[in-house]
Amino acid sequence: MQPVLVLATRNEHKVGELRAILHPLLPNLDPDVIVSASGFDLPEPIEDEVTFAGNALIKARQIAAATGLLAVADDSGICVDALGGAPGIFSARWCGHHGDDEANLQLLLNQMSDVPDKYRGAQFHCAAALVTPDGREVVREADMEGTLLRSARGVNGFGYDPIFQPDGYTVSAAELSPAAKDAISHRGKAFRALAPVISHELEQA
Ligand code: IMP
Repeated sequence: MQPVLVLATRNEHKVGELRAILHPLLPNLDPDVIVSASGFDLPEPIEDEVTFAGNALIKARQIAAATGLLAVADDSGICVDALGGAPGIFSARWCGHHGDDEANLQLLLNQMSDVPDKYRGAQFHCAAALVTPDGREVVREADMEGTLLRSARGVNGFGYDPIFQPDGYTVSAAELSPAAKDAISHRGKAFRALAPVISHELEQA
Protein backbone atom coordinates (compact mmCIF):
# COMPACT_ATOMS: atom_id res chain seq x y z
CA MET A 1 0.00 0.00 0.00
CA GLN A 2 1.36 3.44 -0.97
CA PRO A 3 2.10 5.81 1.95
CA VAL A 4 0.14 9.07 1.83
CA LEU A 5 0.91 10.67 5.20
CA VAL A 6 4.36 10.70 6.79
CA LEU A 7 4.92 11.26 10.51
CA ALA A 8 8.13 13.28 10.58
CA THR A 9 9.55 11.62 13.69
CA ARG A 10 11.88 8.71 14.42
CA ASN A 11 10.83 8.59 18.11
CA GLU A 12 8.89 5.31 18.21
CA HIS A 13 6.94 6.36 21.34
CA LYS A 14 5.75 9.45 19.53
CA VAL A 15 4.90 7.44 16.41
CA GLY A 16 2.75 5.16 18.57
CA GLU A 17 1.00 8.08 20.27
CA LEU A 18 0.42 9.90 16.98
CA ARG A 19 -1.02 6.83 15.26
CA ALA A 20 -3.37 6.25 18.21
CA ILE A 21 -4.44 9.91 18.24
CA LEU A 22 -4.91 10.24 14.47
CA HIS A 23 -6.58 6.88 13.77
CA PRO A 24 -10.02 7.74 15.24
CA LEU A 25 -9.85 11.24 13.79
CA LEU A 26 -9.18 10.05 10.24
CA PRO A 27 -11.50 7.02 10.08
CA ASN A 28 -11.45 6.83 6.27
CA LEU A 29 -7.68 6.56 6.20
CA ASP A 30 -6.19 3.05 6.25
CA PRO A 31 -3.67 3.08 9.16
CA ASP A 32 -1.13 1.34 6.89
CA VAL A 33 -0.79 4.45 4.71
CA ILE A 34 0.44 6.47 7.73
CA VAL A 35 4.19 5.82 7.89
CA SER A 36 7.03 7.20 9.98
CA ALA A 37 10.17 9.03 8.88
CA SER A 38 12.26 5.97 9.81
CA GLY A 39 11.08 4.35 6.57
CA PHE A 40 12.96 6.93 4.50
CA ASP A 41 16.72 7.20 4.29
CA LEU A 42 17.01 10.83 5.33
CA PRO A 43 19.45 12.66 7.62
CA GLU A 44 18.17 14.00 10.96
CA PRO A 45 17.21 17.62 10.27
CA ILE A 46 19.01 20.31 12.29
CA GLU A 47 16.39 21.82 14.62
CA ASP A 48 17.90 25.29 14.92
CA GLU A 49 14.78 27.37 15.44
CA VAL A 50 14.03 28.71 18.93
CA THR A 51 10.31 27.92 19.07
CA PHE A 52 8.38 24.65 19.11
CA ALA A 53 6.48 25.73 15.99
CA GLY A 54 9.66 26.65 14.14
CA ASN A 55 11.27 23.28 14.87
CA ALA A 56 8.11 21.31 14.01
CA LEU A 57 8.06 23.07 10.64
CA ILE A 58 11.74 22.22 9.99
CA LYS A 59 10.95 18.52 10.46
CA ALA A 60 7.75 18.54 8.38
CA ARG A 61 9.30 20.61 5.55
CA GLN A 62 12.20 18.18 5.19
CA ILE A 63 9.89 15.18 4.87
CA ALA A 64 7.38 16.84 2.53
CA ALA A 65 10.16 18.07 0.23
CA ALA A 66 12.02 14.73 0.20
CA THR A 67 8.99 12.43 -0.22
CA GLY A 68 6.47 14.54 -2.15
CA LEU A 69 3.89 13.45 0.45
CA LEU A 70 1.89 15.20 3.15
CA ALA A 71 4.06 15.46 6.27
CA VAL A 72 3.09 16.05 9.87
CA ALA A 73 5.56 16.76 12.64
CA ASP A 74 5.42 17.39 16.33
CA ASP A 75 7.87 19.38 18.38
CA SER A 76 7.27 19.18 22.07
CA GLY A 77 8.83 19.50 25.47
CA ILE A 78 8.37 20.33 29.11
CA CYS A 79 8.40 23.94 30.32
CA VAL A 80 9.04 24.46 34.04
CA ASP A 81 7.80 27.72 35.57
CA ALA A 82 10.61 28.03 38.13
CA LEU A 83 13.18 27.59 35.34
CA GLY A 84 11.68 30.34 33.19
CA GLY A 85 10.16 27.82 30.76
CA ALA A 86 13.23 25.54 30.45
CA PRO A 87 13.98 22.87 29.33
CA GLY A 88 11.41 23.90 26.66
CA ILE A 89 12.71 23.27 23.14
CA PHE A 90 15.86 21.70 24.67
CA SER A 91 13.88 18.97 26.47
CA ALA A 92 15.24 16.09 24.37
CA ARG A 93 18.89 17.11 24.99
CA TRP A 94 18.70 18.78 28.43
CA CYS A 95 21.46 16.55 29.88
CA GLY A 96 23.84 17.51 27.07
CA HIS A 97 23.21 14.74 24.56
CA HIS A 98 20.13 13.85 22.55
CA GLY A 99 17.38 11.48 23.57
CA ASP A 100 18.61 10.14 26.95
CA ASP A 101 15.25 10.21 28.77
CA GLU A 102 16.63 8.92 32.08
CA ALA A 103 19.54 11.42 32.25
CA ASN A 104 17.26 14.31 31.23
CA LEU A 105 14.71 13.44 33.91
CA GLN A 106 17.34 13.01 36.66
CA LEU A 107 18.99 16.32 35.83
CA LEU A 108 15.66 18.14 35.98
CA LEU A 109 14.77 16.48 39.30
CA ASN A 110 18.15 17.54 40.74
CA GLN A 111 17.81 21.11 39.50
CA MET A 112 14.38 21.33 41.12
CA SER A 113 15.22 19.52 44.36
CA ASP A 114 15.13 22.63 46.58
CA VAL A 115 12.08 24.19 44.95
CA PRO A 116 9.00 23.97 47.22
CA ASP A 117 5.76 22.40 46.05
CA LYS A 118 3.98 25.70 45.48
CA TYR A 119 6.54 26.65 42.80
CA ARG A 120 6.66 23.32 40.94
CA GLY A 121 4.22 24.26 38.17
CA ALA A 122 5.08 23.02 34.67
CA GLN A 123 3.44 22.30 31.37
CA PHE A 124 4.09 20.10 28.39
CA HIS A 125 3.78 21.99 25.13
CA CYS A 126 3.27 20.62 21.62
CA ALA A 127 3.38 22.27 18.22
CA ALA A 128 1.80 20.07 15.54
CA ALA A 129 2.73 21.04 11.98
CA LEU A 130 1.37 19.97 8.61
CA VAL A 131 3.34 20.72 5.43
CA THR A 132 2.01 19.85 1.97
CA PRO A 133 4.29 18.83 -0.92
CA ASP A 134 3.56 22.18 -2.59
CA GLY A 135 4.71 24.05 0.52
CA ARG A 136 1.55 25.05 2.39
CA GLU A 137 1.99 25.05 6.17
CA VAL A 138 -0.39 24.87 9.15
CA VAL A 139 0.57 24.73 12.86
CA ARG A 140 -1.63 24.07 15.89
CA GLU A 141 -0.29 24.27 19.48
CA ALA A 142 -1.51 23.04 22.87
CA ASP A 143 -0.42 22.52 26.49
CA MET A 144 -0.96 20.04 29.30
CA GLU A 145 -0.67 21.79 32.68
CA GLY A 146 0.61 20.12 35.82
CA THR A 147 3.31 19.96 38.49
CA LEU A 148 6.73 18.34 38.78
CA LEU A 149 6.93 15.41 41.18
CA ARG A 150 9.98 14.72 43.39
CA SER A 151 10.67 11.20 42.12
CA ALA A 152 9.76 9.08 39.13
CA ARG A 153 6.47 7.13 39.19
CA GLY A 154 4.99 4.79 36.59
CA VAL A 155 6.25 2.93 33.54
CA ASN A 156 4.00 4.11 30.70
CA GLY A 157 4.74 6.93 28.29
CA PHE A 158 8.25 8.28 27.78
CA GLY A 159 10.50 11.24 28.51
CA TYR A 160 9.47 13.27 31.55
CA ASP A 161 6.10 11.47 32.02
CA PRO A 162 7.19 9.74 35.28
CA ILE A 163 7.89 13.08 37.03
CA PHE A 164 4.87 15.03 35.73
CA GLN A 165 1.48 15.05 37.45
CA PRO A 166 -1.27 16.52 35.27
CA ASP A 167 -3.58 19.02 36.97
CA GLY A 168 -6.66 17.31 38.43
CA TYR A 169 -4.87 13.93 38.79
CA THR A 170 -3.13 12.18 41.69
CA VAL A 171 -0.96 10.02 39.42
CA SER A 172 1.94 10.79 37.10
CA ALA A 173 1.51 10.89 33.33
CA ALA A 174 3.45 7.59 33.26
CA GLU A 175 0.76 6.00 35.45
CA LEU A 176 -2.01 6.90 33.00
CA SER A 177 -3.04 4.43 30.31
CA PRO A 178 -2.01 5.50 26.80
CA ALA A 179 -5.64 6.39 25.97
CA ALA A 180 -6.09 8.42 29.18
CA LYS A 181 -2.90 10.37 28.46
CA ASP A 182 -3.90 11.03 24.81
CA ALA A 183 -7.24 12.42 26.00
CA ILE A 184 -5.59 15.22 27.99
CA SER A 185 -2.10 15.53 26.51
CA HIS A 186 -0.54 18.46 24.71
CA ARG A 187 0.04 16.16 21.72
CA GLY A 188 -3.51 14.83 21.74
CA LYS A 189 -4.99 18.33 21.85
CA ALA A 190 -2.67 19.80 19.20
CA PHE A 191 -3.27 16.93 16.75
CA ARG A 192 -7.02 16.92 17.35
CA ALA A 193 -6.92 20.60 16.35
CA LEU A 194 -4.83 19.79 13.27
CA ALA A 195 -6.85 16.70 12.20
CA PRO A 196 -9.56 18.58 10.23
CA VAL A 197 -6.84 20.28 8.20
CA ILE A 198 -5.08 16.95 7.56
CA SER A 199 -8.41 15.46 6.54
CA HIS A 200 -9.09 18.30 4.12
CA GLU A 201 -5.62 17.99 2.56
CA LEU A 202 -6.00 14.21 2.16
CA GLU A 203 -9.25 14.77 0.28
CA GLN A 204 -7.47 17.18 -2.09
CA ALA A 205 -4.44 14.88 -2.64
P1 IMP B 1 11.36 16.43 20.18
O1 IMP B 1 11.24 15.00 19.74
O2 IMP B 1 12.51 17.14 19.59
O3 IMP B 1 10.07 17.16 20.01
O4 IMP B 1 11.67 16.37 21.75
C1 IMP B 1 10.65 16.14 22.65
C2 IMP B 1 11.22 15.83 24.03
O5 IMP B 1 10.37 16.45 24.98
C3 IMP B 1 11.20 14.35 24.34
O6 IMP B 1 12.45 13.74 24.13
C4 IMP B 1 10.81 14.31 25.80
O7 IMP B 1 11.96 14.46 26.58
C5 IMP B 1 9.95 15.56 25.97
N1 IMP B 1 8.52 15.26 25.78
C6 IMP B 1 7.71 15.70 24.79
N2 IMP B 1 6.47 15.22 24.92
C7 IMP B 1 6.50 14.44 26.00
C8 IMP B 1 5.49 13.65 26.64
O8 IMP B 1 4.35 13.53 26.21
N3 IMP B 1 5.89 13.00 27.74
C9 IMP B 1 7.15 13.09 28.25
N4 IMP B 1 8.13 13.78 27.69
C10 IMP B 1 7.80 14.47 26.57
